[in-house]
Amino acid sequence: MKAPRILIIEDENQIRRFVRIALEAENFDVIEADSGTRGLIEASTRQPDLVIVDLGLPDLEGKEVIRQIRGWSEMPIVVLSARDREEEKVAALDIGADDYLTKPFGMPELIARIRAHLRRRQSNENQGDPIVHFGDVIVDLAAHAVTRSGVDVHLTPIEYRLLLSLINVRGRVVTHNQLMLAVWGPNYSERSHYLRVYMGHLRQKLEHNPAQPEFLLTELGVGYRLV
Ligand code: CA
Repeated sequence: MKAPRILIIEDENQIRRFVRIALEAENFDVIEADSGTRGLIEASTRQPDLVIVDLGLPDLEGKEVIRQIRGWSEMPIVVLSARDREEEKVAALDIGADDYLTKPFGMPELIARIRAHLRRRQSNENQGDPIVHFGDVIVDLAAHAVTRSGVDVHLTPIEYRLLLSLINVRGRVVTHNQLMLAVWGPNYSERSHYLRVYMGHLRQKLEHNPAQPEFLLTELGVGYRLV
């Protein structure tokens, strides 16, 4: 099997090298770019399987890099953000990044995220499996049926749409805005307390301990993620 190719767009040499060495040790094929412009060229000509983008780049905004890549590709994008750029991180997810890590981050975490996104992409490409499992929950997407330990779970249409929005991109962070849009449409996008209420319902119905969810996870200040 061909080694997955990862492009890292980051202007700090030290971080770029550190990531390259760690990823090469895991048998990834790594391409480096030290600016947004260079990164866009590498992304289009070398066809990486996943891109890591630092939000603080000297020439282009990291967000602009993501926007441009999303214009022609669905390749997974993981954002690196400094702690003082939390708002940009949400904006980056809203325009199509798949995930984020806040600096300083641990390599095992980065590698685990990369593997999860590559797996998700692979399974999207293979498609066809209309059954999704997590914990003791089974969701039959074709039948719109949810069971837990073999017992039918009744979800309201809104709860089901919310669950589906997370299932469609499982493993990935979905921002509050993206979920509000997907479930209620543009007119309700300011009423994010709805989201908390319905996420609470879903956790009551699907989690062992709704106060300490194992699957429907909160990404503080950002959104939610199904793992
Ligand atoms: Ca930087």
